[in-house]
Amino acid sequence: MDQLDELDELEATLTKDLQYVNIPNFKGLCATCGEPVIGDGIYAMDKTFHQDHFVCFICKEKFGTNPYYVKDGKPYCQKDYENEVIGICEICGKPLLNELAVVGNKKYHLDCFKCSVCGKVLNGRYYNKDGLFLCQEDYENKYLPVCNRCHDKIRPTGDVKEAICVGDKKYHVKCFCCYDCQKPFDDMKAYMYNNDYVCEEHYKKRKEEERKKQEQQSQE
Ligand SMILES: [Zn+2]
Ligand SMILES: [Zn+2]
Ligand SMILES: [Zn+2]
Ligand SMILES: [Zn+2]
Ligand SMILES: [Zn+2]
Ligand SMILES: [Zn+2]
Repeated sequence: MDQLDELDELEATLTKDLQYVNIPNFKGLCATCGEPVIGDGIYAMDKTFHQDHFVCFICKEKFGTNPYYVKDGKPYCQKDYENEVIGICEICGKPLLNELAVVGNKKYHLDCFKCSVCGKVLNGRYYNKDGLFLCQEDYENKYLPVCNRCHDKIRPTGDVKEAICVGDKKYHVKCFCCYDCQKPFDDMKAYMYNNDYVCEEHYKKRKEEERKKQEQQSQE
């Protein structure tokens, strides 16, 4: 709106006001319907309203003696202010009057935003998996693979390949080596002996030892 438009509008309002200025009890024009308020009106938010026209912006209910809340120049009843203007917590359903956590388009009280396993308040550090929010510890316990050799968790370490999968078993890269000499396998050539992975050399050694043992046993 440029200045001239504003002036025009002001003039129009003044003219309208002047029309009624001689009417007793004229209180001004209603901010909702634009008609003159005569007699008992409501004066709120620097504006005049008919008694029936000072209503919640959302539910259109009269405020009566209830408190009202103002946001961007619009009045709201308490319920709509809490639910629609400031929003409600996705977990407890109560208004987000205090500090909140925002995840995507959902909002939560900080105190409500907890690990779904241990109940610890997540404080902004969380893992989101299968729609659940988890603390680091529970996320790791639940989702990180366990090394079949050292039984420690296999943690992601950036873009370095951290796990080797053999069938449905997983190993740290460093753990997938010969059980006897601890050397990594050449070309991933590993031999299975009694559930241990060994290199070719130690596979032969173990076989040989086994054979000797059996010989001894059969000689006894
Ligand atoms: Zn009105
Ligand atoms: Zn309302
Ligand atoms: Zn909550
Ligand atoms: Zn937890
Ligand atoms: Zn390991
Ligand atoms: Zn070896």
